[in-house]
Amino acid sequence: MRESIKVFAPATVANVGCGYDVLGFALEGYGDELILTRRPDDRLVIASIEGVQGLPLDPLKNVSTVAINAFLTDLDLKQGFDLRIKKNIAAGSGLGSSASSAAAAVYAANEILGRPKGQLELINYAMAGEKLASTKAHADNVAPSILGGVTAVRSYEPLDVFNISYPESLKVVVIFPQIEIKTSDAKKILRDEVKLTDAVKQWGNMAGLISGLIEHDFERIGKSLQDVIVEPVRSILIPFYHQMKTLALEKGALGFSISGSGPSMFCFIKEEGASSEIIEAAQVLYGAYEIEVISFISGINKQGAKIIE
Ligand code: ADP
Repeated sequence: MRESIKVFAPATVANVGCGYDVLGFALEGYGDELILTRRPDDRLVIASIEGVQGLPLDPLKNVSTVAINAFLTDLDLKQGFDLRIKKNIAAGSGLGSSASSAAAAVYAANEILGRPKGQLELINYAMAGEKLASTKAHADNVAPSILGGVTAVRSYEPLDVFNISYPESLKVVVIFPQIEIKTSDAKKILRDEVKLTDAVKQWGNMAGLISGLIEHDFERIGKSLQDVIVEPVRSILIPFYHQMKTLALEKGALGFSISGSGPSMFCFIKEEGASSEIIEAAQVLYGAYEIEVISFISGINKQGAKIIE
């Protein structure tokens, strides 16, 4: 029986333009590391959080312990754990910071307990953490963080999630201006109703994006990465969004959109070469307004959550 386990769960890009609350993919390099150690009692204790300041240590307020608690309750198991969390993505980034913690926590708990549940079932428990962070139990970040690759949520009730294939040469550039937007706030400004003409455009783009990914049709991916419903509202919260989008498209980006609820933005690129020009353009644009920006290129992380030790 293992006493301790160390896992990694990646940061993620959710919504992916036209796929609000439905599409997501996992990033490389960024994410949460978590060490989970059995306790002799039934308490869940956050022993430490490194890398990001100000996150709650209270097990009722941290997404990782809330997610594990949902998992243990369903298993009807009284086992306590200490959690040591190492983060490299700030909360409120739009890169699934809370989802990485929730995904890492349930993945680690499932592994240390000898895999009582399958990967797909783990998504449900990680969603309990997301419900705490953003008031809605959305799966578009936790699904790719656990499963890896590109994922789609066909249905929430009942939950039906699956992977979509994609060209491995597809790269992503992420641009993260250093301001915080809480998912819960970004959800409040959205309207409840959608115009039918907009819906038609959105599901046309959704079909185009999925087809482009599966068929490795980069032109179709670029044309379809459009969001006529959420982007017009949420882009208001992101400084210089439209200027950044225009610059990225000029420099060869295949479409451009908001990552999750922002402020991070992302674009797909076919050639790695285009990334340095887009990253440079972001530095110049945000630098002129004294807004710090972190930009990086990533592949799509195929594996998702994994054991490190
Ligand atoms: P993100 O998209 O970056 O995850 P959210 O707004 O969805 O941003 O979630 C951040 C909220 O979740 C913050 O209020 C933060 O305090 C809370 N939170 C609780 N536990 C964690 C955790 N382990 N990691 C990140 N955020 C957490």
